[in-house]
Amino acid sequence: MTEIALQDPLAFPVSPRNRVKRKHERASYDREAVFAVLDAGFLCHVAYVLDGQPYCTPTIHWREGDVLYWHGSSASRMLRKLEGGTPVCLTVSHLDGLVLARTGFNHSANYRSAMCFGTAHLVNDPEEKAHALLGLVDRFYPGRAAELRPSNPQEIKATTVVSMVIEEASAKVRAAGVGDDEEDYAHPVWAGVIPVSMTIGEDQPCPRQLDGIEKPAGLAAYRSGRRLDDVLLEAQRLYEKAAQSD
Ligand SMILES: Cc1cc2nc3c(=O)[nH]c(=O)nc-3n(C[C@H](O)[C@H](O)[C@H](O)COP(=O)(O)OP(=O)(O)OC[C@H]3O[C@@H](n4cnc5c(N)ncnc54)[C@H](O)[C@@H]3O)c2cc1C
Repeated sequence: MTEIALQDPLAFPVSPRNRVKRKHERASYDREAVFAVLDAGFLCHVAYVLDGQPYCTPTIHWREGDVLYWHGSSASRMLRKLEGGTPVCLTVSHLDGLVLARTGFNHSANYRSAMCFGTAHLVNDPEEKAHALLGLVDRFYPGRAAELRPSNPQEIKATTVVSMVIEEASAKVRAAGVGDDEEDYAHPVWAGVIPVSMTIGEDQPCPRQLDGIEKPAGLAAYRSGRRLDDVLLEAQRLYEKAAQSD
């Protein structure tokens, strides 16, 4: 039987490109696992090679099914160069903890990360572009786009949207304590995990806010002290639910 015949339809295909070799026990190719990492983050890094030079650009991403989107100004060199379809690798990572061991060698980090491979294309079709841009705004919370002054044609023209079907992907997670060598546990030094998370702060309303404007109900989840990854995951699930019922 070929490798393709054995593949799980809920998982991304596995090839030498995305097969996790180092610490493969931490890997998953399931859509659910990969999406859980992608959807919990607002920030991605898009890596590509232009004229032999590697670039790695931090930006905002959003997702619909197996399609990832990101955007930028039309002046962006990266995006103009992508027009013909360019191979890219997009990653999202979350730092969850600092792992302090009894030797430098065993110091580590707890993390969740996803690496997605595909070919990036400019979204030129006006309908698809407008739809994708609504998806970006509704990523904050479903329904945000409908509350805004609609985008005008100049704004849409000035924004470049890039899409990439995820061809292959991998997720890798370390969620564990200190892993010292047996003989080192007798060494008298503090060891342990310092948990780390990104949390939401207090709102800073715009000083030019019109009187009587209430915070939208959709923002209720963004409460000070909550973990951003939890809020973003919830927002994505709500967005998907709303899209299904459309
Ligand atoms: C916050 C953070 C801290 C880390 N700290 C360390 C560290 O101190 N030392 C260390 O060795 N590694 C660390 N890693 C893991 C690191 O990202 C790599 O997985 C590791 O270095 C192996 O790289 P490689 O290219 O040799 O992997 P390989 O296994 O050879 O990569 C093959 C394929 O596996 C997949 N893959 C590899 N790494 C990841 C990943 N992180 N997420 C999703 N898919 C992946 C990709 O599809 C890749 O093409 C850290 C990761 C994060 C997010």
